[in-house]
Amino acid sequence: MPYSDEENSRMMLANIASIEIPPIFSTYIGWLRSQSEDHLARYGVRHDSLHIRQFLPRILLGEYFRDQFLELVVQAKEQGFDVEVHESCQVTDLEATNEGVKLWAEGEPSPALFDLAVIATGHVWPDEEKSTRTFFPSPWSGLMEAKIGACKVGIMGTSLSALDAAMAVVIQHGEFVESEREQIHFDLDEGSEKLRIVLMSRTGILPEADFYCPIPYEPLTIVTQEAIDHEISAGADGLLNRVFGLMVEEIECADPAWSKHLALNTLDADSFARAWFADRKMNDPFHWAEANLYEVERNKRDKRTVPWRYVILRLHEAVQPIVPYLDEQDRERFNVGLARVFIDNYAAIPSQSIRRLLALREAGIISVLTLGPDYKMDVKEQQTEISVGQNVYKFDVFIDARGQKPLKTKDLPFPALRKQLESGGDDIPDVGEDYTLLQPESVRGRIAFGAIPYLMHDQPFVQGLTVCAEIGEAMAKGIFESAPNTRRRLPFSDG
Ligand SMILES: Cc1cc2nc3c(=O)[nH]c(=O)nc-3n(C[C@H](O)[C@H](O)[C@H](O)COP(=O)(O)OP(=O)(O)OC[C@H]3O[C@@H](n4cnc5c(N)ncnc54)[C@H](O)[C@@H]3O)c2cc1C
Repeated sequence: MPYSDEENSRMMLANIASIEIPPIFSTYIGWLRSQSEDHLARYGVRHDSLHIRQFLPRILLGEYFRDQFLELVVQAKEQGFDVEVHESCQVTDLEATNEGVKLWAEGEPSPALFDLAVIATGHVWPDEEKSTRTFFPSPWSGLMEAKIGACKVGIMGTSLSALDAAMAVVIQHGEFVESEREQIHFDLDEGSEKLRIVLMSRTGILPEADFYCPIPYEPLTIVTQEAIDHEISAGADGLLNRVFGLMVEEIECADPAWSKHLALNTLDADSFARAWFADRKMNDPFHWAEANLYEVERNKRDKRTVPWRYVILRLHEAVQPIVPYLDEQDRERFNVGLARVFIDNYAAIPSQSIRRLLALREAGIISVLTLGPDYKMDVKEQQTEISVGQNVYKFDVFIDARGQKPLKTKDLPFPALRKQLESGGDDIPDVGEDYTLLQPESVRGRIAFGAIPYLMHDQPFVQGLTVCAEIGEAMAKGIFESAPNTRRRLPFSDG
């Protein structure tokens, strides 16, 4: 979905570069180099400037994946596999039965039968019908095709999706012009002078620019898988604090100066998040963005890694396995604390997106509003009102761009499967090492479940292409090795 030309514009950049994208047949950079000058030029990309750390339009990445997919189908057929591809075919239901997994598709009178079905339905956004001319419940609910006038536009959110939403609006009112020295300014169309965009969030913090670091990641020394497994097996009581203690050791070892500056040894899993954001909260978001852009660009030129940024980046994946084992209170502490730090760090955005933001600010179009913990949102027919204390902000068009929310079994759009899973008693689908569903017995091992929003409860950082590749590989192994379907959520067998 993020890479299709139906739902995205050429302006929207991937925040993953060739160096990180797990190749299928060719690497992304290899594929890019095999494209013609003219073809790349359509995306504003120059052949002679291609490199492995470059962030490019998401639609171009989508073209690569489509090409690789078609090649995959050809090769599978050559090897004797029977492959059928049904594009634009809406699956309406699934059910595991004694005869096999039944799969119903729109326009098909009877269900097809499979030994194994894989659900990889991706992001779930509100339907286009839920949008009006003045309110979009997500940037992916009809905004790309909608005509947005030069009016007051409010965007709930200040990170990736919010920036996509802002781009979708501004390209209707002008264009970004790039100078030789990577400077960008925004040329506003005549007649669009009234366009104003306000990005808003509780903290009013903008994402930082993607930073240089060694890839593949260097291993951690203290927060190893063994150390994490050991803490999980020691029980939920105090788990978050114990793992935070390990994190502190790891960070101190990686970056003693930063640890001292932050007084890391005085912090806990809650105050660490406050300390992480403290400086940014006190500064103007655009000034901060400008300074941060300068810093990361200089580091990229010098191939300099900032140790504390890099260690936090590697820690998010190492720490994630504890999430399903946290008790309710610690899970909440994790969600409002460490998870935000990790997401802020790994969801850094391309420098180009920061330059565009700064250009929009320079043009007097965009601003950021800090809402704080208490605000009210009132969606009216003509306008949306946001109230913060005594202040009421009114917007002619409003876009809710807060990103994907975790979903539960009750949200599944497949009624028969939903009923089967609900009879198993779990409110989130429970999957094994190979991502096949574990319960109830009737579905066990017969449906592989890789639909991201439903996995997010236990794996909050599951989004991203490298994780997609890992999930795909785990499912494929499961099919070919028919390994015993061990429980993904329990590294230690308790009986
Ligand atoms: C706006 C946006 C930008 C992103 N940018 C990046 C990025 O730059 N780098 C990165 O690593 N990750 C990015 N991500 C994260 C993203 O989750 C993954 O990169 C990846 O797209 C997830 O793949 P997927 O196959 O699980 O889901 P999707 O890519 O969403 O694909 C799901 C597919 O299932 C189809 N489908 C859904 N329901 C049905 C049904 N009932 N019947 C038939 N078909 C169905 C959909 O039409 C869609 O084609 C981004 C996410 C978003 C939302």
